[in-house]
Amino acid sequence: MAKRYAEVDGSRCVACGECVYACPRKAIAVRGGCYAEVSRETCVGCGLCEKRCPAGCITMLQREAVHG
Ligand code: SF4
Ligand code: SF4
Repeated sequence: MAKRYAEVDGSRCVACGECVYACPRKAIAVRGGCYAEVSRETCVGCGLCEKRCPAGCITMLQREAVHG
């Protein structure tokens, strides 16, 4: 699994959908026309959505190490 994943700050997202078009894995979707949400399982951490977002509300986070 990728070491990073994208997270959206829903309070700043303007639901423009740019990240949805940018994502090569269809890991991000605008829910209910309100704000974008990322499927952490599907996200490969490429960062393309973060670069495309005009609101700057996508952050790349490190996945926590999985124990056991
Ligand atoms: S980091 Fe890449 S795979 Fe993950 S949601 Fe953004 S564009 Fe999609
Ligand atoms: S590109 Fe940014 S502002 Fe636009 S829908 Fe995605 S997270 Fe929201």
